[in-house]
Amino acid sequence: MHVTVFSTKPYDRRFLEAANATAGHSLSFLEARLSFATSGLASGAKAVCAFVNDEVNASVLASLAAGGVKLVALRAAGFNNVDLEAARREGITVARVPAYSPHAVAEHTVALILTLNRNIHRAYNRVREGNFALDGLLGFDLAGKTAGVVGTGKIGELVCRILTGFGCTVLAYDLQPNSACEQMGVRYGPLKELLSLSDIVTLHCPLTPATHHLIDAKVLARMKRGVMLINTSRGAVIDTRAVLRGLKDGTIGYLGLDVYEEEADFFFEDLSQRFIDDDVFARLLTFPNVLITGHQAFFTQEALANIAETTITNITSFERTGHAVHEISVERIAR
Ligand code: NAD
Repeated sequence: MHVTVFSTKPYDRRFLEAANATAGHSLSFLEARLSFATSGLASGAKAVCAFVNDEVNASVLASLAAGGVKLVALRAAGFNNVDLEAARREGITVARVPAYSPHAVAEHTVALILTLNRNIHRAYNRVREGNFALDGLLGFDLAGKTAGVVGTGKIGELVCRILTGFGCTVLAYDLQPNSACEQMGVRYGPLKELLSLSDIVTLHCPLTPATHHLIDAKVLARMKRGVMLINTSRGAVIDTRAVLRGLKDGTIGYLGLDVYEEEADFFFEDLSQRFIDDDVFARLLTFPNVLITGHQAFFTQEALANIAETTITNITSFERTGHAVHEISVERIAR
């Protein structure tokens, strides 16, 4: 099948070509992000392969359908960037990679927690400059602290397991409690209770209308003063402006982000020779207790290999049967 791959980085190409070696699809790699302006580049392809910041809205889907595209194969788990209703109208199947390595994201989450807590990001620079003073690097023991995990699916469950191993008391909030978490001693309760009791709050729910700005000014007011807030899910789950105010007034003691509401404008690109045209983001970078990574939680060898293999499997099964193995159906999501 002829597939146009958008937002291609050298590592995407390497792993997709390896996974495609036996499948033999014809892959055209484009660096361009998928948007209405670039959608015509897929003309003649039966499938497009898209990533988290590609725009797969109604107008893009209409343009893809007009060019003959029948499948959007996401090389990601989250699909908040896709208008599924529009895809159905256009007769386009949407497939994703539901799980590639929840370990990658869970471990990165814990890396953010430990780095912020022990000031590793600051110690790294100090030591390189010959400054071995400890003042300002004081951390706290994770053992005995209370961690609140919002969303205990594949990633959240692993975060619960790791934090339990550190000796934390783990509280959780999810619409559907996970029995594996309950078995490891995680206590489910209302979000309000989790927020008021947790020293660390970490977000692992998808971005949906219900979770958009889940962490806003009202919710922040319920949190323990000096809380550590971690977001590796999707940027818009937190209201970044409210969080900025929370950092200024001390409500938030530590902030670890792998995702950002407006990340599509600059994440995954090297802008080191330019400037960041986003004052909220630039302000976040001025805080010593803020640590931001550029949507790299998924970025392990194991995850990239799994993403590529599942993406190629989705494409192959769609070509053979008209159905991708991991299709996203509007009906199932609505339930
Ligand atoms: P999952 O579907 O296994 O788990 C999501 C959990 O969130 C489910 O248990 C679900 O019941 C719960 N949930 C849904 N709506 C909720 C709500 N309103 N309140 C509380 N809980 C709610 O997904 P996963 O594989 O664990 O991934 C979680 C999210 O992590 C993804 O949706 C994606 O946005 C993000 N993610 C980020 C990266 C990264 O590189 N930073 C990589 C992969 C996934």
